[in-house]
Amino acid sequence: MRLVLVGPPGAGKGTQAQYIASNLSIPKISTGDIFRANVSGGTDLGRLAKTYMDRGDLVPDEVTIAMVRDRLSEDDAQDGFLLDGFPRNVAQAEILRDMLKDWGQALDLVLELVVDDDEVVRRLAGRRTCSQCGRIWHVEFDDKKDDKCDACGGPLFQRDDDKEQTVRHRLEVYQEQTAPLVSYYADEGILVGVDATGPVEEVTQRAMEAIRPFMG
Ligand code: ADP
Ligand code: ADP
Repeated sequence: MRLVLVGPPGAGKGTQAQYIASNLSIPKISTGDIFRANVSGGTDLGRLAKTYMDRGDLVPDEVTIAMVRDRLSEDDAQDGFLLDGFPRNVAQAEILRDMLKDWGQALDLVLELVVDDDEVVRRLAGRRTCSQCGRIWHVEFDDKKDDKCDACGGPLFQRDDDKEQTVRHRLEVYQEQTAPLVSYYADEGILVGVDATGPVEEVTQRAMEAIRPFMG
């Protein structure tokens, strides 16, 4: 299964990606996570990406695409993958299509996680991430009173780009650059919208129901 998740920042892509990828036994490939790992690791890629991420802008396509190409070439991605956060504009989508075509592959399905703006702002304002295992939490919805991960005990942090000013800009970037992917993939006949409101488990269930008809 070759799957892409699209949706605005805060829609729940990362949260759902961990469950969907594990249900389907495919690797979850989150470009945001790979960039953040490079930032923490102090690599050249991390230094470059950080200037864009801090502003809430997209990292340039050449850099992002090269990184995704490398990751998709790894052994564990040969029989399927779930992309979270890539592609993020039509140019990336076109290059992904050509890259997969060269390898005799194609996307099976693009799931759009649908939530309204107010919910997105609420979700991003309370997002906390575990610096040890990467799990995503929410201060209010997960009733997090301490700053510790319930899964591994690691310390939680708030992403720099989840501050209010940057969030507003990221939502504009989504509308301008990423939202056009919805009609791009609808035209290709592989887009399915999923209502991403309500409890996490219910959203996962809806996503799995949407995926089932596309499974080999
Ligand atoms: P969110 O989960 O809130 O949508 P991500 O973790 O996916 O955010 O991305 C964080 C940041 O990483 C983005 O704002 C952008 O700067 C960079 N980024 C992630 N994926 C891409 C991509 N496909 N193209 C360009 N930049 C990206
Ligand atoms: P994205 O990757 O699309 O930016 P995340 O998966 O990081 O989104 O989720 C953003 C925030 O919303 C996190 O704090 C997460 O715990 C919370 N969240 C995700 N799904 C739900 C849901 N169904 N109900 C309530 N909160 C959610």
